[in-house]
Amino acid sequence: MPVIEYTKEVKRIADPLYEKMKHVVSEVEWSVYAAYIYSINQLKKEKNAVILAHNYMTPQIFHGIADITGDSLGLAREAVNTEADIIIVCGVHFMAETAKLLNPDKIVIIPDPAAGCSLAESITPEDVRTLRVKYPGVPVVTYVNTSADVKAECDICCTSGNALKIVESLESDRVIFLPDRHLASYVAYRTEKEIITWTGSCEVHEKFTPAEIDRFRESVPELTVIAHPECPPGVLNASDYAGSTAQMIDFVEMKQPENILMVTECSMSDNLTSSFPNVNFIRPYNMCPHMKLITLEKVLKSLEDLGPVVEISDNVAERAGLSVERMLAVK
Ligand code: SF4
Repeated sequence: MPVIEYTKEVKRIADPLYEKMKHVVSEVEWSVYAAYIYSINQLKKEKNAVILAHNYMTPQIFHGIADITGDSLGLAREAVNTEADIIIVCGVHFMAETAKLLNPDKIVIIPDPAAGCSLAESITPEDVRTLRVKYPGVPVVTYVNTSADVKAECDICCTSGNALKIVESLESDRVIFLPDRHLASYVAYRTEKEIITWTGSCEVHEKFTPAEIDRFRESVPELTVIAHPECPPGVLNASDYAGSTAQMIDFVEMKQPENILMVTECSMSDNLTSSFPNVNFIRPYNMCPHMKLITLEKVLKSLEDLGPVVEISDNVAERAGLSVERMLAVK
């Protein structure tokens, strides 16, 4: 890959974006990032590509090159509407698969196919088939954080933003909810239905503890704490609000608290700071190593090479696509 330079032209076009990330990106780092951001944005236009970026991407991706940002549900919805020929997913592998399921005729690219997820890796299609034998007739809801192969074995998908609504939309009094045990218990606490769960967990959210929340509260007066439902129940109990990353953003927008701790992946706070200058974001330290495999350098290379592309066999795509579409049809 050629060395990209921080020329006058790069400076002119890219520097206005620096405002949104200068609280976390040094000027030296910016001189490198700016050149990549400039090149990616040029190439993206030339190739009619769109970049979807999850809220956990680094600020240089989130503010520098993304056309659409959001949580898994938001990205899945936007993936359906795009007119672009090429979709680059800055997120983890299951998100790119979801985009492909919804856009089978488009080129869907993940800049690093090794960007996995501890939840997606916690369950296999065989596990789902075994559960179906054990609980005949019980509908299976799967969190979107699963492989297409697993989605193909399930009845309907959900995200952390709509999990309760999806479970409530089913007629059965018993529901198998996979694979995140903490999101399952969050839903079980809020529904009359019996929830049968699995043993998966998110390696990032699982690490938060109630004692850590207490320590933050002791050191920062008037602290508002909002947590992602992939956190353990004790952490949610110690928080003031629980919701998906998109719901967390809505919360900050609506309440504009003086001090806030977002109990989720650390880039969330970095990405929101510039939009809410009157809010003091207390930063947690938990980082997702899978999300951080996506870098500007890899995004540029993937645009140049038009790969690595996401491929799903027709048989799996048809069944997994139905699970995702059923979720999107629930209003
Ligand atoms: S933050 Fe957790 S759920 Fe999200 S991709 Fe990373 S490991 Fe998976």
